Amino acid sequence: MQRDFFKYQAQTTPFAAGFEVDRAEGSYIYGKDGRAYLDFVAGVSANTLGHSHPRIIDAIKEQADKYLHVMVYGEYAQEKPVELCRLLAEATPAPLEVTYLVNSGAEAIDGALKLAKRYTGREEIIAFKDSYHGNTHGALSVAGNEAHKREFRPLLPLIDFIGFNDTTGFDKITEKTACVLVETIQGAAGFILPDDDYFIRLKQRCEEVGALLIMDEIQPGFGRTGKLFAFEHYGIVPDVLVMGKGMGGGVPVGAFMSSKEIMQSLTHSPKLGHITTFGGNPLIAAASLATLQEVLASDLMEQIDRKEKLFRELLIHPKIQKVNGKGLMLAVDLGSAEFTLSVAAECMRQGLIVFWQLYRNRYLRISPPLTVSEDEIREGCAIILAALDAV
Ligand code: PLP
Repeated sequence: MQRDFFKYQAQTTPFAAGFEVDRAEGSYIYGKDGRAYLDFVAGVSANTLGHSHPRIIDAIKEQADKYLHVMVYGEYAQEKPVELCRLLAEATPAPLEVTYLVNSGAEAIDGALKLAKRYTGREEIIAFKDSYHGNTHGALSVAGNEAHKREFRPLLPLIDFIGFNDTTGFDKITEKTACVLVETIQGAAGFILPDDDYFIRLKQRCEEVGALLIMDEIQPGFGRTGKLFAFEHYGIVPDVLVMGKGMGGGVPVGAFMSSKEIMQSLTHSPKLGHITTFGGNPLIAAASLATLQEVLASDLMEQIDRKEKLFRELLIHPKIQKVNGKGLMLAVDLGSAEFTLSVAAECMRQGLIVFWQLYRNRYLRISPPLTVSEDEIREGCAIILAALDAV
């Protein structure tokens, strides 16, 4: 299989692992080599409830027995997407109320940017240095990393970048700004947290000039920081909330959410302001709804603080410089990219899956399923410490 993987499945890195997966359950992925690998990456923050969670599998099977795709987005009322959107409205503060379901995080970002332009009638966008929002042309245009986008220009015009946690850039947010797009916790940059009142001040500035604040919660969403969405830690509510990854519990999905008033601007001038065939697909919505119901009904979010503390207590080693992040999105600074990649490879040899942060390879990524147990945290951290000694 590995040979055909490299021969027929397009690659965009010269160093894909090509790890042959047999099955996955709970916090473990089982390889074709017969070994169990403890998964501290969760498909890059996607497998909120671990692998093959029975509630998600049952929801998918039940929906598959009824119907799959029946119509393009938004034409027919189908139980699972409707229920998902209703529950999202109940679980988030006003004015967040209506949700547009799409197929990926990047598409949700594109949709949110279009929404802001359409609603405000403005053309300019403010994004952040070191940000990552996905890889479509639109999402790449707002990425704050020149190396990843240089070769794909021309991208969207009228986008300017300011520094995360830097209020001096606020004067770039003006009456011409349609929206400010920000990750609540900067992911690719190494899980960088906002300063205490940064978002309060950012929101204030947006309100002063009538720009929409869009928050990208594609990684923190559903529950990864101990709240359903990370903005809830910071005393503000965005005008537009973007989610993806972990909201699916292992299926491809994205969404952007806003007030009824703002979202309605996509229904006219032009009508069909965003179109997607498979957005709101019932099978995907069934999995996402099951994920949301489980996150809300269980005590998983309450456990996050304790699990973060345990990671921080265990990850002490002379080769660890610091641990960034919040909840179960942690980035362990090992000083150099080369060393981090070697440590990740050694962890894999010892049965632990870890990864690195996209822009800052010196950070080892730890984003396990929310369901990871304290024993599994101990087991995985022991492997990391052993790998640090061995490399
Ligand atoms: N925004 C953030 C913060 C992300 O981490 C990602 C994916 O890693 C995206 C957007 C893009 O999501 P997707 O890969 O589903 O398009």
